[in-house]
Amino acid sequence: MNYHEQIAALADLLKTCRPAYALTGAGISTESGIPDFRSPGTGLWTKYDPMKTASLTALRRDPARFYELNLTRWTSYRDCRPNNAHLALARLEKLGYLAGVITQNIDGLHIKAGSQRVWEVHGHLRTCRCTKCESVYPFDLLVDLYKSGQNPPLCEKCGGVLRPNVVLFEDRMSDEFFTATQVLSGCQLLIVVGSSLTVYPVAGLPQLARRVVIINRDPTSWDEHAELVIRHSAGQVFTDLMAALGEPLEE
Ligand code: NAD
Repeated sequence: MNYHEQIAALADLLKTCRPAYALTGAGISTESGIPDFRSPGTGLWTKYDPMKTASLTALRRDPARFYELNLTRWTSYRDCRPNNAHLALARLEKLGYLAGVITQNIDGLHIKAGSQRVWEVHGHLRTCRCTKCESVYPFDLLVDLYKSGQNPPLCEKCGGVLRPNVVLFEDRMSDEFFTATQVLSGCQLLIVVGSSLTVYPVAGLPQLARRVVIINRDPTSWDEHAELVIRHSAGQVFTDLMAALGEPLEE
């Protein structure tokens, strides 16, 4: 099948299996300027090991170092804009083709794009919480404290170390992950976008769906089980898909 046939096949699947779900990973946001983990040459993994720098052990062992290593990168996500892939998923939901998006990303770009039903299974950067008393604050407070020289940023109620509401390596999975497994059970069609499908337990989610489509620049562990594999940039695929469906990207 050539690329145009693949786009036509994806449009047909969306029409016959509606509503579908999407499962997105870091690759959907690279065209918004956020590096992923595993793209050859540009992935963050080529520069450092996130398992060591963005883990619970790293936070507990040396919280100030944890923030030095992660905070600039995380705050930079907040200036990024959704690209055509995020916009198309939001539009597909409005049109009734999609029931929702399960994302591994913490960048908030699906919500910025207008998606209504989003399960952020690895958390987000809108809030933070105290590691001692669990008080919740806006993430901006943590950033302001850090910028004013308080590293690590501390809870104003009990003095505990603040942490972002993201799922770090070694953390338990979020409640949103468990909800996502429920909504996906028996789903007709799952479209995986920009994920190497190597981070468990999320990498196991495709097995809950009857049919799976993979849109990813590089091979994934799920390709041989998928109904359709499109090895192309997500922004281009979704631009072409919306054209094939005869729908504009934005209202
Ligand atoms: P990953 O880095 O393991 O894999 C990303 C995949 O996306 C790669 O296989 C790559 O080929 C593909 N890709 C990159 N750009 C693409 C594009 N424009 N179009 C199509 N495919 C593209 O990412 P993962 O599977 O999501 O796992 C990484 C973990 O890191 C996740 O848990 C995620 O939470 C976290 N993370 C999040 C962000 C973010 O929030 N944007 C960024 C980096 C890492």
